Amino acid sequence: MNAADEHAWILDDVEAEGRGLHALASELFPLLRSITGEGLRQTLRTLGDGLPFTLHEVPSGTPIFDWTVPDEWNCRRAWIKDPQGQVVVDTADSNLHIMGYSLPLHEKMPLSRLQEHLYSLPEHEDLIPWKTSYYRRDWGFSLTDRRRRELVEGEYEVFIDAELKPGSLSYGEVVLPGRRSEEILISSHACHPSLANDNLSGLVVTRRLAQILAERPRRWTYRFVWAPGTVGSIAFLAGHEEILPRVRGGLVVAGVGDPGPLSYKRSREGRAQIDRIVERVLRRREKKYRVFPFTPDGYDERQYNSPGIGLPVGRLSRTPWGSYPQYHTSGDDLQFITPESLASSLAVLLEVCGQWEQGVYYRNLRSKGEPQLGRRGLYAALGGHRGRDEREAAMLWLLNFSDGSHSLADIEDESGIDRALLEEMAGILQEHELLSLED
Ligand code: ZN
Repeated sequence: MNAADEHAWILDDVEAEGRGLHALASELFPLLRSITGEGLRQTLRTLGDGLPFTLHEVPSGTPIFDWTVPDEWNCRRAWIKDPQGQVVVDTADSNLHIMGYSLPLHEKMPLSRLQEHLYSLPEHEDLIPWKTSYYRRDWGFSLTDRRRRELVEGEYEVFIDAELKPGSLSYGEVVLPGRRSEEILISSHACHPSLANDNLSGLVVTRRLAQILAERPRRWTYRFVWAPGTVGSIAFLAGHEEILPRVRGGLVVAGVGDPGPLSYKRSREGRAQIDRIVERVLRRREKKYRVFPFTPDGYDERQYNSPGIGLPVGRLSRTPWGSYPQYHTSGDDLQFITPESLASSLAVLLEVCGQWEQGVYYRNLRSKGEPQLGRRGLYAALGGHRGRDEREAAMLWLLNFSDGSHSLADIEDESGIDRALLEEMAGILQEHELLSLED
């Protein structure tokens, strides 16, 4: 690795990157996204613009593992008029007012019946909660608790200009082929309506990462997936089972725009290469960060790490989902995400890719049992000098961990042995045809 190479994995103009990321989030913010529909489709097309992008459409009713692709939902407008005919709730003001997958409706009803379909947050009276009902046929509106308390008795007119019928589920994919067919998977969910951190932040940051990687030579193949949460990543996996053996690891990127410190959730394996790499980058770069073990909740890491899929996929976030008051409410807006946080999340991802790209990998050519070092004169190569024990240890660490999935940096981390000594001993093992350097 030379200095110029290392430099290539540092973000050039952090401020300009931050502004660009925030501007794209602002452009996508008004679209009414859901797990299907035009808002989702338009978001995916914008993300894929200028990249080798495929928009996948999986027809409603298609079986995907234990799931079935749902009907497609589109909502053009929804509002409520009070007894005086005044509009009191309107999706023209915020997409969050309509519950996702609400059935079409145009009816008058008393306040008491309307109340059964209203959602608000008494503990945060100025925030509109985001609600969905994907699999139970229903309708509903969200509003601030302050507005809700102002509603007077009488007849309300409720209008939902929506369609729920067979169509398709959309997800987007960008593949950047590398010298090697083994892949790194980067995935972000795309199904949330006008919410900025969860998850426009993940979408715009991974899209920019794809743009940067597309412009440079690559060792590994990178696959970016932007899909609706849960059902979308399941649709992707069901349609791509043949690639799974080639995936070396990956990341779910979600909630990376808020001002909180970065957090990393490990893959189910816990010490997979992705885990070692991300933790190394965070340790080196960030003053404050948190690392969590895998749990079968959260975002699409649940699907990628499910036992029948078994991909080592970790998750990069800032403040973990559900633990900030703006989560899934109108408080998660464009002011909540900052250009600085977006850019620094991108910088971390770029360094993670740099670690993958620049990792030095050896392969133990006599890996069944330990090779017989004495017969090859390798104990003599250790010499009589002080540090003989450490030189022997370096040799054993190299032989044991040079399995193609531990880089020299990983062996350095695991063993605590100095990099220069590992390199020297690797050279000796190569001369004795016990190690080969992988491409
Ligand atoms: Zn969410």
